Amino acid sequence: MDFHEMDRAQLLKAVKTDPLHGLSAEEVRLRQDKHGFNVLAEAKKQSLLLSFFSQFTDLMIVVLLAAAVISSVLGEWIDAAAIVLIVILNASLGFYQDRKAEKSLEALKKLSAPQVQVLRSEKWARLPSREIVPGDVIRFSSGDRIGADVRLIEAASLEIEESALTGESMPASKRTESLAIVDPNLADISNMAFMGTLVTRGSGVGIVVSTGMNTEVGQIAGLLQASEGMDTPLQRKLGQLGKILIIAALLLTLLVVAIGVWRGNDFYTIFFAGLSLAVAAVPEGLPAVVTIALSIGVQRMIKKDAVVRKLPAVEILGSASVICSDKTGTMTENEMTVTHLWSGGQEWTVEGTGYEPDGRFFEAGTLVELQGVPALHELLLYGMLCNNAKVFKKDQEYAIEGDPTEGAMVVAAMKAGISEKWLMENFTVVQELPFDSERKMMSVIVKDRNGQLLAVTKGAPDLLATHCGSIRWGEQQLPLTAERAAEVERAVIGMASNALRTMAIAYKPLPPHTLVFTEQEIEKDLVFIGLEGMIDPPREEVKAAIQECWNAGIRTIMITGDHAVTALAIAEKLHISGEAGIAVEGKELDEMSAEQLQEVVEKASVFARVTPEHKLRIVQALQQNGRVVAMTGDGVNDAPALKTADIGVAMGITGTDVAKEAASLILLDDNFATIKAAIVEGRNIYDNIRKFIRYLLASNVGEILVMLFAMILALPLPLVPIQILWVNLVTDGLPAMALGLDRPEDDVMKKKPRDPKEGVFARGLAWKILSRGFLIGASTLAAFLYAYERNPADLPYAQTTAFATLVMAQLIHVFDCRSEKSIFARNPFGNKYLIGAVLSSVVLLLAVIYLPPLQPFFRTVSLAAADWPLILGLAALPTFLLAGTFFFKFKKD
Ligand code: ATP
Repeated sequence: MDFHEMDRAQLLKAVKTDPLHGLSAEEVRLRQDKHGFNVLAEAKKQSLLLSFFSQFTDLMIVVLLAAAVISSVLGEWIDAAAIVLIVILNASLGFYQDRKAEKSLEALKKLSAPQVQVLRSEKWARLPSREIVPGDVIRFSSGDRIGADVRLIEAASLEIEESALTGESMPASKRTESLAIVDPNLADISNMAFMGTLVTRGSGVGIVVSTGMNTEVGQIAGLLQASEGMDTPLQRKLGQLGKILIIAALLLTLLVVAIGVWRGNDFYTIFFAGLSLAVAAVPEGLPAVVTIALSIGVQRMIKKDAVVRKLPAVEILGSASVICSDKTGTMTENEMTVTHLWSGGQEWTVEGTGYEPDGRFFEAGTLVELQGVPALHELLLYGMLCNNAKVFKKDQEYAIEGDPTEGAMVVAAMKAGISEKWLMENFTVVQELPFDSERKMMSVIVKDRNGQLLAVTKGAPDLLATHCGSIRWGEQQLPLTAERAAEVERAVIGMASNALRTMAIAYKPLPPHTLVFTEQEIEKDLVFIGLEGMIDPPREEVKAAIQECWNAGIRTIMITGDHAVTALAIAEKLHISGEAGIAVEGKELDEMSAEQLQEVVEKASVFARVTPEHKLRIVQALQQNGRVVAMTGDGVNDAPALKTADIGVAMGITGTDVAKEAASLILLDDNFATIKAAIVEGRNIYDNIRKFIRYLLASNVGEILVMLFAMILALPLPLVPIQILWVNLVTDGLPAMALGLDRPEDDVMKKKPRDPKEGVFARGLAWKILSRGFLIGASTLAAFLYAYERNPADLPYAQTTAFATLVMAQLIHVFDCRSEKSIFARNPFGNKYLIGAVLSSVVLLLAVIYLPPLQPFFRTVSLAAADWPLILGLAALPTFLLAGTFFFKFKKD
């Protein structure tokens, strides 16, 4: 018998489980041994060896290896060996970095891996879906991805999108009754849910019947989603730049060969000179350093609770100019307490903070005896009935499970002495229409002890009121006339202007003996009972974060499903309501054309009573205006807006799987301030990348100039290829990495966002590279000429002097690269990695110059102590000559 044919008892027997207790830890272990983890086999990873050799496919490396072969054919063994050695060293470094980057990406994947709610030893827990075993009881609701194949035992308006498996684009409605069909199509199995499919509506509970490769999706090969491209725009641009430089290097080489042939030089001299230039032109170390900087930035973001799902987001964050944020939970604490109640023209307040169910009720300052006020009792009772939250005590403190809005209503009812036990004894819920952010309400059908069926609805008051025909007014039930509706509205606005979130409650008796009701039948002609108003204070740190973003040229817009007046009151506390102080409502948005909306989004900072579709329109309007938009979201319907936004930001705690999959950034703490922290990091990473691009390329420019000038002036080569390789890959490499780790400059959040269209070399970077490179080249050449003039017979001595000058010039220049302004703008010892890197590079330089076994490889000779003042003086020149002029210019600014 197949699972879909079984009834409940047969099912429980077949998978040996108990839906009230779930599996025990011991049982889970046994089943994990038997069935393995609940994962789909992934495509085989590249082997370590292959990954190491793939390092050698880089064009530059191929050129170098070819050079090594030619050198050895010509009998220049030492050169050949030295080149091979450096290439292997570089490949090992690249290999190590690739592994590390891959590991951190895997760690990221784990952090954003789907989780499943599972019942284990009578407790519901959230576990990674890989832990699930057959027999587990799991529950899910709108927005969740199903973690394994399950047979359903409960379904409340459950609809699941299964197109990946069935090709059916409309979501399928699910139920729990057994099916008497043999060998059905997947699309016909309405009582099961399959791994990887998506709950689009409602909620349900199911028993896991198969996991991992035994699931329906496991059986279909190739269905696994291909992972998305992880290269950032900058990496792509640098890749292109690399190609251009290689072509330039080859052209330069051709030029050198032509000059050599024209002069009648021998083949080896020509080859050697050509190779030197090719090596000088290409920044061999750059790609590795970019990868390292990005992966370190991502690690730093995780420490601040921001998980990057798509690497390009790291860069785009630095260009963000608008943050559109939800209010509830992101800007506010999402810890609600009911403080005000209203029914039939009467108003009450209730004491207490947090979720502790203790507090008295007052009417106009006098204590209320609850027995005497049936309307208040009914309001609280129905608020607790139409509700899925639970209140419990943990470590001496009260906490809730479920939606905080609902939790607050349960707590309020408990303050009036209504207990969960009493409620369960007197009412059973027979049907539920779950809350969704389009309808902005939720309903249940309950049966009381006498068998009477009741519909109870709660939701946004302004909307719910339009579904009501009458209203409780004291002891009576009266028609909901325009005047009474106006009175309700006044009460709502009264609460909302104190920043209270408002919820209305309504009910109606239903005819007996009907089994299933539709939404239209339930949510109409209701009796309005009253309002509950709850506070949800703004998060402490958000106000400062919003201000900081403002200083950084980033506007914050609040987009909320809540009431306009509540939203504005909170916005005012956070200082984002703007001068206009208006909130635009969803229904006003509906009337606007795309062009009108484009204008409105530039002025209004609060959008209220919006649906997820409105969010999408707002993102598009902002983008039309040339803004780079970060947009937060948590629900299923938020996915289109999150995908469309430049940076989709999903909530780690309250976010659904769908929202997380659509987003490029996940906030582990759901906190607005974390977006700001990620932006600071994003800006810093980009700045750091610019720093080492400047650093590394200035070195290349210097090297090319030295070599070209020497050739044009018919001088011997001032540097040999192996020395240039050593500079590019080793002595420059470490400080470049340290620049990648640099802390942000003080003014990161005082600058405007970076123009997303700007090129890598914008804002004076090209000038800095060329001017510093030119001066470094000039100093190196000067050092070479000086030493060569003094002792023309000792070429290696002159070359060593030039080599030392080049390295030292770069090691001084690196401190200038730390700031876009001037070397004097920052404490030179502020980056301890940089100090370490520079010291190591100095030691390496000295080793290559002074250690006899290395000298033949690098064609160096020991320099005298008397040579160093000149070397250091010339090396300092490029940095300080221009730093001085910039310093004065900067001061004048
Ligand atoms: P944000 O979009 O900033 O997170 P929000 O949480 O207020 O704000 P929604 O969750 O879409 O947005 O809620 C919109 C409105 O729906 C609320 O103002 C409230 O009146 C109503 N509402 C919220 N939660 C429930 C619920 N569980 N049951 C019934 N109605 C609800």
